[in-house]
Amino acid sequence: MSGRFKRYGRWVYRDPRWPALRIAAKRRDGWACIQCGSKHRLEVDHIVPVRDAPERAFDLENLQTLCCSCHARKTKKEANLPELGPDRVKWRELLNRPLPN
Ligand SMILES: [Zn+2]
Repeated sequence: MSGRFKRYGRWVYRDPRWPALRIAAKRRDGWACIQCGSKHRLEVDHIVPVRDAPERAFDLENLQTLCCSCHARKTKKEANLPELGPDRVKWRELLNRPLPN
């Protein structure tokens, strides 16, 4: 990786290695969310966020399969936001506000 430091991890999802790696992670986890066992709307998450460990972006050991609600919960925790419960409308309103520091 050359050039300036890349933030937010978006570059990972454009990498030609990512689609195969994402499938490998889901297959390893049995095509189910590792937290709640759901098999719907699965996403592959970086255990250590890419922004903290870009060198582990393509490390299968650093990937886990989560459903979209468990993934959203983890992302919310990482952003240090308070738990709001499953009220999606409130969550969406919060997303549209500037985050406090
Ligand atoms: Zn889940």
